[in-house]
Order: sequence, then structure tokens, then C-alpha cells
Amino acid sequence: MTAAQLQWLASASYFIAATLFLLGLQRMASPRTARSGIQWAGAGMVLATLATLLLPGLQNLGLILLALVLGVASTWAWGRKVAITDMPQMVALFNGMGGGSAAAIGAVELLRFSLAGASPPRLTLVLGVVGALIGAVSLSGSVVAWAKLDGRMDKRYVFPGQQALNALLFAGTVVLGAVVAWQLGVPAIIAFFLAALLLGVLMTLPIGGADMPVVISLYNALTGLAVAFEGYVLGNEALVVAGMMVGAAGMLLTRLMARAMNRPLRNVLFSNFGGGGAAAGEGIAGSQKPIEAADVAAMMAYADRVVIVPGYGMAVAQAQHKIWELAQRLIERGVKVRFAIHPVAGRMPGHMNVLLAEAGVPYDLIADMDDINPEFPNTDVSLVIGANDVVNPVAKTDPSSPIFGMPILDVAASRNTVVIKRGKGTGFAGIENALFYADNTRMLYGDGAEMAGALVSELKALDGGH
Ligand code: NDP
Repeated sequence: MTAAQLQWLASASYFIAATLFLLGLQRMASPRTARSGIQWAGAGMVLATLATLLLPGLQNLGLILLALVLGVASTWAWGRKVAITDMPQMVALFNGMGGGSAAAIGAVELLRFSLAGASPPRLTLVLGVVGALIGAVSLSGSVVAWAKLDGRMDKRYVFPGQQALNALLFAGTVVLGAVVAWQLGVPAIIAFFLAALLLGVLMTLPIGGADMPVVISLYNALTGLAVAFEGYVLGNEALVVAGMMVGAAGMLLTRLMARAMNRPLRNVLFSNFGGGGAAAGEGIAGSQKPIEAADVAAMMAYADRVVIVPGYGMAVAQAQHKIWELAQRLIERGVKVRFAIHPVAGRMPGHMNVLLAEAGVPYDLIADMDDINPEFPNTDVSLVIGANDVVNPVAKTDPSSPIFGMPILDVAASRNTVVIKRGKGTGFAGIENALFYADNTRMLYGDGAEMAGALVSELKALDGGH
């Protein structure tokens, strides 16, 4: 085939790949079709990768294939064995890798222009620099987010003058970027990349409390934009289209997450929100009152309405199957059961929906926060399993709390609340929860799956062993 024919074939394949990405994204909109959506988008990605190998003038084919084999083999092995609870960290890291790849493309292209004394169009240079800046920030920021999600780092790291320093560093990085775009000097390119990487780290260090979901989705959006910009620099349509899709989807997700937290984005990024708060439980009166599984089973068996509120602890315990078994037993007894999902419950967007879908819970039993909140006053028993921050009433009452202003599931309004958790551990935001001390709350201490299993056994006993 001639070079022109190969180029045509690659472009046509990119078009088909872009269509597959779009259709895949559309299918991901519903839990019923989401799995096939992933497969469609994956097929698009394979096609785009293979088509790239057709591009005329491709060099270092051996190195490219080696990188492909190493990348595919290692992520395949990692993806297969990763625990479902470690998925959020993995997603944060893979996201960072996308940003890092875009930054690497930017670095290679800028250095190539510089060393060859080339003078590409100014727009190409500016977009290359912007893409590299965004990509480098999302790489180092995502690594910090990974470390926080993986429990390897303190949740928040704050020091005096931090915001001023970050603002200064941001301005400095932009100036360096402008110098790179106008002069293409090697020292300026190196300084620019170091500054951008440092900016990502310093921007993410102070973000903590419960604001991480917003940051993670923002880095996801930024990665997409960076890829799109570098796609323009390389003249690669597939990168531009895929990057724009990830960027747009990520921006929508960021808006949703920010809305779920009731925080304008600038608050999350620039306001060092949430100083201390009731970290050690100061200001919360009363004590936590334990209860036995048999009593909880009886309470629920004779209830009219039960709402189950899952959180991160359900994912840790992998208790979704037992919880669904419990719900089915209650439904058989005529109890009206619903599941209430907070948008940031767990450690990644949609985390609880994924787990409940995996266990086979029908979608019509699952309610969003806005739909279920008015129902709590008419709920006889709310069963909270491994949720903490998303049901913490201090979000409404304590302005100094890191989660103040975040909408919560109004569990405290229900007639009785039972909380399943292992002990007195705090949630991701690291603060005490006033709900656990309320008069009508009882604590069922233990691992989520074991306690859900115990409740199923007690219900069976109530039903005469059936
Ligand atoms: P939390 O992290 O607030 O609380 C989880 C609770 O589960 C802990 O208090 C823990 O208590 C309990 N737990 C842990 N393991 C088990 C187990 N095996 N069995 C039973 N209980 C267990 O969870 P939420 O879902 O309420 O809130 C999510 C938090 O994570 C929010 O702050 C959110 O902002 C943040 N976040 C969310 C992301 C997202 O995209 N969804 C991303 C990043 C952060 P104990 O140790 O006593 O058992």
C-alpha cells in the first residue's frame, strides 16, 4: 500500500474508533448497558491503537511494541487481581498516567522543536504548552490523590501561606510556559515541567475532608483536555476526539460531584476548606449504644418501612450479597425496603451502584439522595452499613467541620437507626459522627458481611428456620 492509502486507512479507522467511543459512552449511561459500553469503547481503543501502527513514517516500531506488550501485560495482571476496595486508587493512578502521557508527548515535541531549531505555528506551540501543563498537573496531582486514597498520606497537609505560595507557583509556571512557547529554550522547558509537576503536588496536598471525589473527577477532565491538546500538536484525530470526550465527561462529572458536595469548585481548590471541626468528637453529647443482631432482626421484621444505607464499609466487607439476601427476606415478609445512595458514598463515583448491581439489587429499589430524604421521617428502621461521612449530621450543624455544607442522607430523621461498623473508626473525613450518639441510634458492631449474615440467620430463625 502507498503512504497515502495507509494514511487514509488510519484516518478511516480513527473515525470508526471515535464512533465506538461515542456509542460506548452512551451505553455507559445506564447500568443495564454499561458493561457492553465498556466493551464497545475498549474495541474502539484497540482499533485506534492498531490504526496508529499503520501511520506512514512510524519509527522505533520495536520500542513501541515492547511498550505495548509491557503495558498490556502489567495492567492486565494488576486489573485482574486488584481488590474492589482498591479500585479507586487504581483509577486515580491510571488517570494520572493519561495526564503523564500527554505531558510526555508535550515534552518530546517541545524538545524536538527546540533541538531541531524548528519554528512550528505559534498555535501549535501554545496548545502544546497548555496540554503539557495540564497533563503534568494531573499526573503529580493524581499520584498525591492515589497516596491519600491508599492511606499512605495524611488526608490534608496545610501550612501557613500555602494559598499564596500556590498562586505564586501557578503564575510562575504560566510565565515559564509563555517563555517556552516564544523561545523554546531547553532550560526553560525543563524548569516549566518541574514547576508544573510541583504545582500538581502542592494543589492536591491541602485538599482533604470529603472533597477528594471532586478533585479526582477534575483530574480526570484535565487529563482528557491535555490529551486533546497534544493530539492537536501531533495532528492525531483519534487523540483529539478521545481527549475531548474524556474532558467533557470529566467536566460534567466534576460539576455533579461539586454539586453533591454543595461546594463551588474554587472552594475545593483554593479555600483550604474545613479547619478542624469536631475531630475528636468535641461538642457531641451522649454515648454509643450497642445492640445485638437478634434485636435488630426483630425490629426490622416487624417494621413497615426499612431503608438500607450502604457506604465504603460495605465495599470493604463485600457485604452487598448478604445485604441483598437480608433485603429479600424482609420483602418476603411484606416490609417495604429501599436502598439509599449518596452520590459520594464509597471511594469512587457510582461505587455503591456498582456493588448493588453486582449483587442483583433491582434498580427500582435504589433511590438517590434527593428522592429518599423526604421519606426518612416515615422510615421505621434505617440500616446504615459501613457509611459514615455521608450520614453525619454535623455537615448541617458545625460550620467548622470539613464536611460542613455537604448534603447528607437524612438518616437521623428516621424513627430508629441501626449502624453496622466494626468499631469506633472514623470515615474518610476523619471526624466523629453525631448520628452514632443519637438517642434512637443503636450500634451493631462487627464486620459488615458477618453482621449482615447474622441478621439473615436471625430472620430465618424468626421465620421458623425457612
Ligand atoms: P466513610 O469513609 O465515611 O466511612 C466508612 C465506615 O465504614 C468507617 O467509619 C468504618 O468504620 C466502616 N467500615 C470499614 N470497614 C468495615 C467493614 N469491614 N465492615 C463494616 N464497616 C466497616 O464512608 P462513606 O461511604 O460514608 O463516605 C465516603 C467518604 O469518602 C466521603 O467522605 C467522600 O467524600 C470520600 N470519598 C469519596 C469518593 C467518591 O468518589 N465516592 C472518592 C474519595 C473520597 P469502622 O472502622 O469502625 O468499621
